[in-house]
Amino acid sequence: MYRYANSLTKLIEHFSRLPGIGPKTAQRLAFFILNMPDAQVEEFAKALIEVKRTISTCPNCCNLTDIKPCSICIDEKRDRSVICVVEEAQDVIAIEKTREFKGLYHVLQGCISPMEGKGPEDLTIKELLKRLGDGIVIEVIIATNPDVEGETTALYLAKLFKPLGVKTTRIAHGLPVGGDLEYADTATLTRAMSGRREMN
Ligand SMILES: [Zn+2]
Repeated sequence: MYRYANSLTKLIEHFSRLPGIGPKTAQRLAFFILNMPDAQVEEFAKALIEVKRTISTCPNCCNLTDIKPCSICIDEKRDRSVICVVEEAQDVIAIEKTREFKGLYHVLQGCISPMEGKGPEDLTIKELLKRLGDGIVIEVIIATNPDVEGETTALYLAKLFKPLGVKTTRIAHGLPVGGDLEYADTATLTRAMSGRREMN
């Protein structure tokens, strides 16, 4: 049976490992690369390597960053008494787009999901608790996704924070249930943040 040359097969295989990419799309992308100018392909390959080399997590908020601590954590204009807890780095970008939130963030790097075998110990909760013990933080806004896993995580955290004496709030509903924070439009997200309610 005729097959593509080895290097082309390998590239197709790499593309098909990416999320949401089926074999047909993988093939189309590989051919697209093949037809791209050499310089552009080189830039693309360099970008792949560089992103792995330069991006790591902030030791403070666990967000993705190329400087340590990250640019939000070192920004002296930010309100250090409020921490907004989100699941992923993409959620930070979504909330930053609203330009309403001036506090700091904490990125959990996921949520509690028994289906995916993910428990509280797999999240950056330990790092978050360390931050809450500094006496500066007054409020924690839990902005996990409005789906079952996000709600489970929010309830778990609220219970954990209760003895610490910090005010724990949850962003308001109005976000599409089961939706992803990351895809919510800016106006909805702004409303959800300002309409947050205390959890107890
Ligand atoms: Zn940070």
